[in-house]
Amino acid sequence: MGAPVAFTAAADIGHWIAGMHVRGTGDRAQPVWNPTTGQVARQVLLATAEDVAVAVAAARAAQPAWADMPPIRRARVLNQFLALMNEHRDAIAAMITAEHGKVFTDAQGEVSRGIDIVEFACGVPQLLKGDYTDQVSTGIDNWTLRQPLGVVAGITPFNFPCMVPCWMFPVALACGNAFILKPSERDPSPSLFMAELLKRAGLPDGVFSVVQGDKVAVDALLTHPDVKAISFVGSTPIAQYIYETGAHHGKRVQALGGAKNHMVVMPDADLDQAVDALIGSAYGSAGERCMAISVAVLVGDVADRIVPLLAERARSLKVKNGMELDAEMGPIVTREARDRIEKYIGVGVDEGATLVVDGRGFKVPGPDGKPLAGFFTGGTLFDHVKPSMRIYKEEIFGPVLACVRVKDFAAALQLVNDHEYGNGVACFTSDGGLAREFARRVQVGMVGINVPIPVPMAWHGFGGWKRSLFGDMHAYGEEGVRFYTKQKSVMQRWPDSIAKGAEFVMPTAK
Ligand code: NAD
Repeated sequence: MGAPVAFTAAADIGHWIAGMHVRGTGDRAQPVWNPTTGQVARQVLLATAEDVAVAVAAARAAQPAWADMPPIRRARVLNQFLALMNEHRDAIAAMITAEHGKVFTDAQGEVSRGIDIVEFACGVPQLLKGDYTDQVSTGIDNWTLRQPLGVVAGITPFNFPCMVPCWMFPVALACGNAFILKPSERDPSPSLFMAELLKRAGLPDGVFSVVQGDKVAVDALLTHPDVKAISFVGSTPIAQYIYETGAHHGKRVQALGGAKNHMVVMPDADLDQAVDALIGSAYGSAGERCMAISVAVLVGDVADRIVPLLAERARSLKVKNGMELDAEMGPIVTREARDRIEKYIGVGVDEGATLVVDGRGFKVPGPDGKPLAGFFTGGTLFDHVKPSMRIYKEEIFGPVLACVRVKDFAAALQLVNDHEYGNGVACFTSDGGLAREFARRVQVGMVGINVPIPVPMAWHGFGGWKRSLFGDMHAYGEEGVRFYTKQKSVMQRWPDSIAKGAEFVMPTAK
């Protein structure tokens, strides 16, 4: 296994290992697109298993000293990082828009939500405080403490290249682990920028690494004996694979998967608020959010009143280059993803759903008046969608809103609970009792009452139910602290309290 070699080629996006940019040993690379122009921006280098082994070795060498550092000193490094993230938030947001395509103001929001977790992690001395019981038996005390796992890894999706890594590494680092990030190969730049900021903040080399790559890098992390835990966020089939393979190799795994989020609109809901909420949450970030609303469950007579309003708004969405400040929706991340979304629209038509607004073939004029060659599609709206249809059952991950009509609240609740995914859900109503009933009975991990995208704040933890999460613990918050630490119980007494003679019975309190 070779030592990492520094690298500075600006045309290629490489790895970050042992505190420097590294080219790695492989010769595989893939294009990173600018989804607005449809041009290849740069190439991202794909790590080999050997590159991953070099990163793990650097992490393993650096971790014990980092873990030994008092938590408040680790928190001070994170505090410096927090200041740098705040200073550079717009630069990171611009990187996100350039590679992902989401509108700049939305990217700024993403960075802010990532920064929230860094801020939470700065409180780690309080979070790592253990429990203590004096005198569990005569002359004996018992306490618990939480210790880091060692080297841990995170594998993240394209749709939040800053925020989702921030769900993981600030908490893992604060707890005393070394962290290896394998970001999405579709928008890899923010990860390297954050690595540079961590170094500037004073993080010792090797404690945070980035390996770019695909299944080769992921499999190398999943099977490496020195990687003790894997956090994953992405689609459900890969989440299940990560969970099973990681567990098979003896690792702790949290694997957050895909979603099909419903928003129930009751007849007593404020219609204007419900329309705003549906439009923003279905078409914001071009529907490429795991908490996007993709199903509107319209109860009773609300459908006939709301569908025309939704149609009008979906047709007039401002779809354009995300750097234009009035843009409401940018392009889709890649041509393949755009084509997949538009194919689903055809499937919906074939299945017999009513296509109210068709976003296919949407053209966005460029500065010269000619259409941009980027991966645009418009907002799409379906009505009369049935639970048996593929456009209802499957995650489309694009700006496609499916309206399902149901007769009453019980049918709406049943529909949500019968779906295989259980990430987020919302209910719009002005009836407090019904809202309470909904929140208690719904089989979904994150619930919004008159809140369309209820992404929990940094100290509450994020996670879905059913096939939206494999594993036992949610991301960040106190669940994150538990995930990245193991509990140790210490029982202690001193020689003057030890009775003479061997004890052969199970010890009990005396
Ligand atoms: P994805 O599953 O294709 O990729 C996620 C990560 O897994 C990437 O780093 C990718 O390189 C890696 N990967 C892809 N195929 C792999 C394979 N065969 N073997 C090993 N690793 C592989 O997901 P995506 O398209 O980047 O992101 C969109 C998906 O992520 C959607 O399904 C969305 O719902 C989900 N998501 C979920 C959450 C959540 O919190 N539940 C949050 C964000 C995104």
